[in-house]
Amino acid sequence: MFSLKCSDAGFDCKKMITGNSKEEIMTWVMDHGKRDHNLTDNDFSPELVNKIQSLITESKE
Ligand SMILES: [Zn+2]
Repeated sequence: MFSLKCSDAGFDCKKMITGNSKEEIMTWVMDHGKRDHNLTDNDFSPELVNKIQSLITESKE
């Protein structure tokens, strides 16, 4: 199980995103970012994607 706190990515947001893989997390992050933070595909630069991927934590549940 992987998880990411939206606040760790720099947003004032309590959303916690969980998934079975980092790819799944990224899909949800982009979905959530576009829906709730008015982001666009252009905002998800390689730098931001790399940053978010580095923030994803793995738990053994
Ligand atoms: Zn958020």
